[in-house]
Amino acid sequence: MATAVGPRALLAAIAAGAAAVLALWWHSTLSLSGLGGWLTGAGEILGLLAGYAVVVLVLLMARIRPIERGIGADRLARWHAMGGRYVIGLVSGHALTIVWGYAVTAHASPVSETATLLTNYPDVLMATVAWFLLLGVALVSARAVRRKMSYETWYYLHFYTYLAIALAFSHQFADGAAFTSSLVARFWWSVLYLLVATLVIWYRVWVPARDFARHQLRVAGVRQEGPRTVSIYISGRRLRELAAEPGQFFRWRFLTRDLWWQSHPYSLSAVPSDELMRITVQDVGEHSAALASLRPGTRVIAEGPFGAFIPDRTNRSVLLLAGGVGITPLRAMFAALSGTVTLIYRASTWQDVVFQAELDAIAEARGATVHYVVGSRQDLGGDPLSPTVLRRLAPGLHRMDVYLCGPPGMTGTAVAALTEAGVPRRRIHFESFEF
Ligand SMILES: Cc1cc2nc3c(=O)[nH]c(=O)nc-3n(C[C@H](O)[C@H](O)[C@H](O)COP(=O)(O)OP(=O)(O)OC[C@H]3O[C@@H](n4cnc5c(N)ncnc54)[C@H](O)[C@@H]3O)c2cc1C
Repeated sequence: MATAVGPRALLAAIAAGAAAVLALWWHSTLSLSGLGGWLTGAGEILGLLAGYAVVVLVLLMARIRPIERGIGADRLARWHAMGGRYVIGLVSGHALTIVWGYAVTAHASPVSETATLLTNYPDVLMATVAWFLLLGVALVSARAVRRKMSYETWYYLHFYTYLAIALAFSHQFADGAAFTSSLVARFWWSVLYLLVATLVIWYRVWVPARDFARHQLRVAGVRQEGPRTVSIYISGRRLRELAAEPGQFFRWRFLTRDLWWQSHPYSLSAVPSDELMRITVQDVGEHSAALASLRPGTRVIAEGPFGAFIPDRTNRSVLLLAGGVGITPLRAMFAALSGTVTLIYRASTWQDVVFQAELDAIAEARGATVHYVVGSRQDLGGDPLSPTVLRRLAPGLHRMDVYLCGPPGMTGTAVAALTEAGVPRRRIHFESFEF
């Protein structure tokens, strides 16, 4: 069993780090006098916390396997987005209170004090450029702006965060009271930054490169599953060493002339063997549409496995609830789980239903149950996933673990219906197909 770091352990470690940062400030501050001193003190605390928070922000997205497995990529992405807002608040608060505090102490105006800081204090100009870069990244991440640009543009603009961190680093040692006075503080702060940089390089560059060389992944074949859906079979060597579990996903990079520069997350749609993996992809845009034309032999870089959407095999009674292409991870789980397993597969039309023959064969071989709930609400005469319907389709529902994957709208209503039907919230697990 691969190791996993759970949400509580990670949050406790982050909080302990923040407490250590506050202790560092306390240790380096002899006294605070007057309004200027208090404002400067507040600015220093905000600056130290910003310098720490930005490292945590990068750590959350470093794709560290035990963290991804224990917490889930979608939750990490949400924490990262929330952390980004904290960082912007801390950095902006730091800049403004420091200027204000220095201005009050020097009996100068904030404008002239800003000019003094930019021209007379070492590396403050670079740190200011870093602040504007971070504001730019925050702007493109705002929902309204993000919706207007492609995922790749938004994603690659995020790399400016690394530049901002590099630009802001030196001003911390050159100007920060906690560091100018203490070699020990400078040493441990550098260790923190170096450690996170190493983890990023290790998990985002070295591990995928090593796995590429080790497993020699190639497209083995493409199979049409439905009008808009294809399965891609990927062959390789010693795939068991990847320790991928049903429910997990990889980030796939297909090395063709048009696709090599982007990687996309797709879940395993079958239990992987030592030589073969399978994903199943619905055409929703440029990348997913292009996969139907992949040629056998195309080389593949698969980064992963990722995700905490992994069934707990100790519960003997499980409900799998799929909506549309959300069937993919649940199809893999359906074949892997033992005990009493019920699969409810919701789709708008029969054309959207994939794997029907496979699902029926698995159900028959294992004595499991599949219910296809197909059609519009109107066709089906009401809410097809109401608490009453769910209880009827899955008798003993309140004792089951539920794994749910579908479009965001369906996920929200299904979680509410399951809770109303008596399933404790801790037993409802879901995967979101968007970060
Ligand atoms: C954990 C996870 C597992 C997934 N598993 C499957 C699966 O098994 N089968 C399947 O058909 N789809 C799956 N998806 C969805 C799939 O990744 C997107 O549909 C696909 O990346 C869309 O790319 P596109 O260029 O075709 O479409 P676009 O029009 O470029 O994108 C459509 C939407 O997909 C999302 N998206 C685009 N590129 C990426 C990316 N590189 N990383 C993350 N999200 C992106 C964005 O929200 C975007 O708005 C999964 C997504 C996630 C997050």
